[in-house]
Amino acid sequence: MDTDCIFCKIVAGKMPSSKIYEDSHTIAVLDIFPACPGHTLVIPRDHHADLFDTPAATLAHVARASKKVAHRLQEALGIDSVNIINNSGANAGQVVFHLHFHVVPRSGGDGLDFKLNRVKADAKYLEEMSSRLKF
Ligand SMILES: [Zn+2]
Repeated sequence: MDTDCIFCKIVAGKMPSSKIYEDSHTIAVLDIFPACPGHTLVIPRDHHADLFDTPAATLAHVARASKKVAHRLQEALGIDSVNIINNSGANAGQVVFHLHFHVVPRSGGDGLDFKLNRVKADAKYLEEMSSRLKF
């Protein structure tokens, strides 16, 4: 536990939260700044700053719990879609540096927009970047 970490305090029950799910590896709480009703955060019990810092086994637990939460949102709210979002690093918009997945319920006409500003790649880009990134 990181004593300065707000999510560690929530996991330890030392800060209030609206918990909707927990298991031995994760908890899920309502985001106090929801993008829409039902916006939930899935948080591993162990402190890891971000994706880079988190063991694969812990990520698997977070992914499994996110799926459970998505199904619960589907049942309880009648939504048919969901965004799973992880911000890792300040430049990606991470604010609390304890890994978490946002589970954002979506429905038609909800007005949310998480679209990336994507452009069609050309062959030169695909060849050069794949050669640079391949491992
Ligand atoms: Zn923490």
